[in-house]
Amino acid sequence: LIRFDQVTKRFGSNTVLDNLDFSVSSGKHVTLIGPSGSGKTTILRLLMTLIKPDEGTIKVDGDYLTHEDKGGALVPAGEKHTREVRKKIGMVFQQFNLFPNMRVLRNITEAPVHVLGLNKDEAETRARELLDLVGLGDKCDAYPTQLSGGQQQRVAIARALAMRPQVMLLDEVTSALDPELVAGVLDVLRDIAHTTDITMLCVTHEMNFARDISDDVLMFDAGRVIESGPPEKIFTEPEHERTREFLSAVL
Ligand code: ATP
Repeated sequence: LIRFDQVTKRFGSNTVLDNLDFSVSSGKHVTLIGPSGSGKTTILRLLMTLIKPDEGTIKVDGDYLTHEDKGGALVPAGEKHTREVRKKIGMVFQQFNLFPNMRVLRNITEAPVHVLGLNKDEAETRARELLDLVGLGDKCDAYPTQLSGGQQQRVAIARALAMRPQVMLLDEVTSALDPELVAGVLDVLRDIAHTTDITMLCVTHEMNFARDISDDVLMFDAGRVIESGPPEKIFTEPEHERTREFLSAVL
């Protein structure tokens, strides 16, 4: 469903991703781990087209994200093409980024109504179902500031799901939360991972969560995948010295 092909991304003289190849199959849950600054968030930002690759291509569900295939030649994509491909992707950020001036229900219905063209009733019915799913069925009329960080993050998860994305990107979604609120958010995500067929690409420092939900774990170092495999293997018998060092520091 997602394919990075020889992707290089530089910021000035800093090569953050170096000829990166990796792919995520449909329905799989893949977790990116690795030291701070190794380029994990950059991958998610490329997928959201918040930034563009300097070299290489990214495909989502068979379509190039920032290129278009014009009679066999790859040319930079127009905004409309990129927007269509990006619609398949939902993202939940570290900072929940809810609209502070809108009640919870409207936070969730806004994009389905304005971007997908759903009518208001349909969007609200779906939003209520999703709020039930994340355990906040009684908070439709609250404003974000009236909710705890964990509740706000669960609204953000419902909001991402409301766009019916094929893939959900999760960027350290619990790192801004007070420790006692982390488990509630991870439980919701575990539930979604185990009960839906949505593809997930996560960056997380929560190794137990990564172990629980991942089909594959990719270990990053200096902009490259140095090791990958199922969590049982990566967490218990890593091959690479850097992976062993990293895990012994975080576990
Ligand atoms: P962390 O676990 O700390 O979030 P990460 O693996 O997600 O780290 P990235 O956020 O992808 O790392 O950053 C990789 C490198 O790219 C870092 O050295 C960072 O300073 C640099 N970087 C990221 N965004 C920018 C930017 N907009 N301008 C310049 N440098 C950037």
